[in-house]
Amino acid sequence: MTEQRKTFPLPLSSVTGGATRKPGTPAPVATPQTATQNARTAAQVSAAPRAPSPAPSPRAPSYVQTTQSAPAAARSDLAATEAVRRAMVGRVARQGVQDPKVLAAMETVPRHLFIEPAMSGQAYVDASLPIGHNQTISQPYIVARMIEAMRAGGTLGRVLEIGTGCGYQAAVLSFVAKEVYSIERIKPLHELAKTNLRPLRISNLRLQYGDGMLGMPQVAPFDGIILAAAGLEVPQALLEQLAIGARLVAPVGGQVQHLHRITRIGKTEWASETLEACHFVPLRPGTV
Ligand code: SAH
Repeated sequence: MTEQRKTFPLPLSSVTGGATRKPGTPAPVATPQTATQNARTAAQVSAAPRAPSPAPSPRAPSYVQTTQSAPAAARSDLAATEAVRRAMVGRVARQGVQDPKVLAAMETVPRHLFIEPAMSGQAYVDASLPIGHNQTISQPYIVARMIEAMRAGGTLGRVLEIGTGCGYQAAVLSFVAKEVYSIERIKPLHELAKTNLRPLRISNLRLQYGDGMLGMPQVAPFDGIILAAAGLEVPQALLEQLAIGARLVAPVGGQVQHLHRITRIGKTEWASETLEACHFVPLRPGTV
């Protein structure tokens, strides 16, 4: 850890409870009696009523377990949630996402924990959903597609996400990159993401409240940058914070938007590709 990284407004421990984990491996649990385990179990148990039918997979069992003891019901609810999540990842793969690391990350992150209880029945449908403050959680397919496009089969060290929202994509990124930084400009959403992420104990993710259009020059360069909100152009500050050879993936446009992938090919040279059409909330300056 450098001195600079210690100066973040949100220390890693405030998201993770101080645990450390290799990216892509589940957080270890000391004993079943620990507070962390209790928090995690509570999250799993509370996941059950938060993910009722209509489940998108015809194979998914019912979440209502009236005849089992509480621990057995929790285990079976967890299995049901995992089955529905696997089905979601299957649909994402059928839509063309091939990167096994991205698909595995999507299978690991419990998307229902990032969605309001009233809507969690739709957590594994391939759609964006409202998260309050006129913002949305991104559609699973587009989350996977953007990370795949940024990674392009390579190894990702440090990555930056602009637009944390509820924290879902940041969590997925934490399983494909070594270090993840994510910025949100709406304070209550920054706080919501912290709350959503805490039970997952992700140790390689840092959240920052601020204007992502400025990036994080104090941590740059990044091996990848993803924008989860669409501007008419990509802020120059972000292009400058890409490492040479690194890729930025961003929706660009107003009413009509396309995903762009920009690769920094030299100190003052970037190459841009236009990928598919998309629809994102707008990228806005400043903080609220
Ligand atoms: N990454 C989220 C998507 C959130 S929607 C997910 O996992 O689903 C996009 C988010 O970008 C919104 O929360 C919005 O407030 C935020 N945003 C827009 N402009 C921003 C800016 N300049 N800096 C940081 N966040 C911004």
